[in-house]
Amino acid sequence: MTTLKGPAQPRYVTGIGTLALPYSSSGRLPTCPIMLKRRVWLEIAAGRIAHISAEDANPPPDAVPDNTFDAQGSLITPGFVDAHTHPAFVDCRSGEFVKRCRGETYQQIAAAGGGILSSMRAVRAASEEELTTLVEKRFRRFLELGVTTIEAKSGYGLTVEDELKSLRAIKKAAQPSGLDCCPTLLGAHTVPPEFVDKPDDYVKVVADEMIPRAAKEGLAEAVDVFVERSAFNVEQARRVLEAGRSAGLKLRLHTDQFTSLGGVRLAVEYEVASVDHCDYISAVDIKLLAAAGIPIVLLPGAVFFLDQERYADARQMVDSGCCIALSTDFNPGSSPTQSLPLIMTLACLKMRLTPAEALWAATLGGAYALGRQSDVGTLFEDFQADFCLWDAPEIDYIPYTFGDQRPAAVFKKGMRFAE
Ligand SMILES: [Zn+2]
Repeated sequence: MTTLKGPAQPRYVTGIGTLALPYSSSGRLPTCPIMLKRRVWLEIAAGRIAHISAEDANPPPDAVPDNTFDAQGSLITPGFVDAHTHPAFVDCRSGEFVKRCRGETYQQIAAAGGGILSSMRAVRAASEEELTTLVEKRFRRFLELGVTTIEAKSGYGLTVEDELKSLRAIKKAAQPSGLDCCPTLLGAHTVPPEFVDKPDDYVKVVADEMIPRAAKEGLAEAVDVFVERSAFNVEQARRVLEAGRSAGLKLRLHTDQFTSLGGVRLAVEYEVASVDHCDYISAVDIKLLAAAGIPIVLLPGAVFFLDQERYADARQMVDSGCCIALSTDFNPGSSPTQSLPLIMTLACLKMRLTPAEALWAATLGGAYALGRQSDVGTLFEDFQADFCLWDAPEIDYIPYTFGDQRPAAVFKKGMRFAE
């Protein structure tokens, strides 16, 4: 394909080979979750899809080079909605990767002062400006790779001031990058070293100080907590969720990543916005989430990169009627990738999703997890004009050409993203 050229903010996009439209009225995946339209053109107005032509229709009579972007037969999908990322860190931890290549385990590295705690020390030492610059660079990279809406968590500061600093950096970074960003306070990511013998006291700081201040300053849309043996138990998580609910914030839960401690029942009780990871979830708990209509955010990148055996049973989740989202879990320790096409490949091969289901989960599924399903995640009329052009004949090619697939062009609210 020749380089795609055209106005940065076109009224029309013509010459579309295939337009992929994820759909669902309930959050459940239909048998064919992507509607395909061939040889159509789009009209964009005020950053939204104003009109989709009939298949094989002639181009609009007033389409001229100044107002028309020629897709030259490209596949167009919605921009990705990445519903789970941890971008507010300083250094990548590639040194730990090298140690793991030599045979050290993630647990051994963490016990020697690496892992989340090394990220924590660096975030505490960084200024808000330094952190903002780093996060903005990562947001631009997400856009290049086709992500147009993102959820972004704090969680490496682990003091009131350092968590609020991280959230401010996320908020400031989102504006110039153009990404739609849903910030989440993850003060309860792990117990910081100062509280290692008194985790309940740290939970009290999160619940009584951190959450109310983040809400009051308008810095977070949601609160998240990590339920795991190495992090917080169900009772501690309950205190965090209670505080989040009192502050009027949405609730999310990292749970069942390595063990199943009862986080899913807590999630159902608190009607959380999403339950994330779920590699070790039981069949009974899958049915509970399906019945409650709570989206499950699947993160196969972390399973792959930590070299774990067990991936979430996405097949059973879809067949049980769950809403699923597929996200990068972008973070410096367990999933340092920003590529949703690569995550789609893992979901297809390791979780037995079809390419269409994987695309649905990485777009409209993510939108459901963020509560934005009437605005983003698909490209029907009145949805935001957030889309990617691909040098690919079919959506199957996105996960099939693993590791090297990136969009030929990305549009956010009808405006082409320029690197
Ligand atoms: Zn995470």
